[in-house]
Amino acid sequence: MRFDLLTIFPDLFVSPLQEGIISRAIQDKKIEVVVHNIRDFAVDRHAMTDDRPFGGGEGMVMKPEPLASALAHVQEEAPGGRVVLLSPQGRMFTQRLAEEFAALDHLVLVCGRYEGVDERIRAHFVDEEISIGDYILTGGELAAMVLVDAISRLLPGVLGCENSALQDTFSRGLLKHPQYTRPRVFASYEVPEVLLSGDHAAIAEWRLVASVRQTMKLRPELLTKIVFSPEEIKILRRHGITTG
Ligand code: SAM
Repeated sequence: MRFDLLTIFPDLFVSPLQEGIISRAIQDKKIEVVVHNIRDFAVDRHAMTDDRPFGGGEGMVMKPEPLASALAHVQEEAPGGRVVLLSPQGRMFTQRLAEEFAALDHLVLVCGRYEGVDERIRAHFVDEEISIGDYILTGGELAAMVLVDAISRLLPGVLGCENSALQDTFSRGLLKHPQYTRPRVFASYEVPEVLLSGDHAAIAEWRLVASVRQTMKLRPELLTKIVFSPEEIKILRRHGITTG
């Protein structure tokens, strides 16, 4: 999958793309990430990418021409990508949306700054707007990196263990069960006995129950959307949990 990132601060992506799983995915050619400096597409001699808002008011607005030229450049280099503007006003980014985007070949992510982008870009040059949460960031770069990260780890061959993403929190709608590693006793706290038993069925049962309990405690609203199998319902009942 290819990601094109349009930004006036390309250096913000250097370290996040050079570490860990994302860096390996790039090396292994599972993903391609191309960062474009919007300033390179500015038309005036001061390479201005922002200007004062018509009608007056606070802050600066990102000028439309450099953004449109940068998008045209990407379109020439690699046609057909879905153009996403990072925006606090957009559709909320969720695991479902990450899965939806992971099925695409190419995403173009436009990072706003200042008061945001000229409305004509928003209205006529992007396919959709995505928000990563109900708060305001100083720019779209961190949000774009969130998308690159969450989408990339769903692509085949990016995670070492293929099933790992399937068992994550949100992939089924439940929070993931608690996890433990060595040592067996830490600060006098012990690992639940069943996890040391080697009994795979008992471990699976413990994990399901723990996962449901964790979800009930921390995110009860998620449970209303989950469909449990008849076998799971039996297990949960045995542990005193009734599902709607
Ligand atoms: N004035 C804008 C408003 O009130 O809607 C906020 C602009 S914000 C300071 C600058 C840029 O950061 C936005 O254009 C967008 O690209 C990015 N941004 C800020 N918060 C975001 C969020 N929650 N999700 C995605 N992008 C965000």
